[in-house]
Amino acid sequence: MPITIQQIIDELKKNDPRVDTDMIILAYEFAAKAHQGQKRKSGESYLQHPLQTALTLAQIKAEPDVIIAGLLHDVPEDTGENLKEIEKQFGKDVADMVEGITKVGKIKYRGIERHAESLKKMFIAMAADIRVILIKFADRLHNLMTLDALPENKRQRIARETLEIYVPIAGLLGIWYFKYQMEDLCFKYLYPEEYKKLEFTYEHEQKLENKQYIKKTKNILMPQLKEAGINFDIQGRFKSLYSIFLKMQKKERKFSDIYDVFALRIIVDSVADCYKTIGVIHSLWRPKTNRFKDYIAVPKPNGYQALHTTVFGPGGKVTEFQVLTQKMYEESIYGIAAHWFYKNKKISLGKQPRWVRDILVLMRHTANSEEFISTAKIDVFQDRIFVFTPKGDVIDLPDGATPIDFAYAVHTDIGDQCIGVMINDKISKLNTELRSGDLVEIIIEKNHRKPSRDWLKIAKTQRARSKIKFSLKQGGWREKFMPWR
Ligand code: MN
Repeated sequence: MPITIQQIIDELKKNDPRVDTDMIILAYEFAAKAHQGQKRKSGESYLQHPLQTALTLAQIKAEPDVIIAGLLHDVPEDTGENLKEIEKQFGKDVADMVEGITKVGKIKYRGIERHAESLKKMFIAMAADIRVILIKFADRLHNLMTLDALPENKRQRIARETLEIYVPIAGLLGIWYFKYQMEDLCFKYLYPEEYKKLEFTYEHEQKLENKQYIKKTKNILMPQLKEAGINFDIQGRFKSLYSIFLKMQKKERKFSDIYDVFALRIIVDSVADCYKTIGVIHSLWRPKTNRFKDYIAVPKPNGYQALHTTVFGPGGKVTEFQVLTQKMYEESIYGIAAHWFYKNKKISLGKQPRWVRDILVLMRHTANSEEFISTAKIDVFQDRIFVFTPKGDVIDLPDGATPIDFAYAVHTDIGDQCIGVMINDKISKLNTELRSGDLVEIIIEKNHRKPSRDWLKIAKTQRARSKIKFSLKQGGWREKFMPWR
């Protein structure tokens, strides 16, 4: 079923009945005009892609400006319309977001795992604004959903790139909503056999059992909670198939071992109701000792809040209950993004407020060693740029760095033999300030082994400067005694 702009408006009105939809409709018309006649690889109208992106954003309660940027996100790239027109009609904030998405879109994973770390940093540095990251996630999610239309090699590349770059960033920012969906879609394309097996087991055995069990539990709980005056919602599965797959691989366990404990999540209206609900649960079923955890009084280091308890539930089945409020629930799946739903504030990683830094610092202490945040502070990225070598390596340099810094960062010989530079396939001057995303190719001459003294003025990095000085000193000696070099 094609998506309509009305669906997006309905979704927005759920969050804010008085939302002003004029600009949304204007953005829709702008995108419709820009993408007119364009088709997706699947054959459907191109406009369906920005519409789906915007709908996803509305579902996670993004503010209207983010929805507008979502509708417009492919306009500058795919069509002749430019950013200036967007700025004129929708303002600088929207134009900046659209520009950010275009920039992030240029980051390509070329299948070498050692680059994944740099690409993650680059992604965050170039997005700079958390809202840009969310739009990019919504965009990527729809692309993953329509991967079938692409040739096999492209499918693999996009799925691999998502798993190596996007999924870890979603995890870092605590945005499980995207993390789970993206990783299951990638799982399907990267490990089709394993996916099929696991999905079959889940769909045919677990799901039914789950459903019946949830129903049973609900039937017992409902009258008790109602009597206590508690509104509630109950949920079953909240693990991704991919995370189950990883667990099974790591510990060589069977599906049934991982699913041995039922977990149910109960969402209620208030903190007081959380405690009351635990009381009701404990009065119905015997709790396991030492399994009650109060993450409301003492939140987990990543900010997660809820009450957990494990009981011998209906039929003696060991069951874990997680009880939390709607707000806590949304924070747990939307992560950092959830904060602007409540505070309605813009959060930019570039000018990050204290709390973002605090959360990230906390995460840094809790994350495993593979998380990039454990090796680099996010504020390190603020004055860094990320540029590509012709082979697709990412070189990380300070803001204001020039091709000379780049050359010496790659290799001393490349620096010493440098006679010119191509930036984005154009011959450029050696004192050009590089920008994130530039593709830089140093032109070398094998017999030319002398840096110019003027380069000392151009180089921004200490590394380049000391190497230039060293080579200048060595120059004479080298020519005399090592003429073959
Ligand atoms: Mn797109």
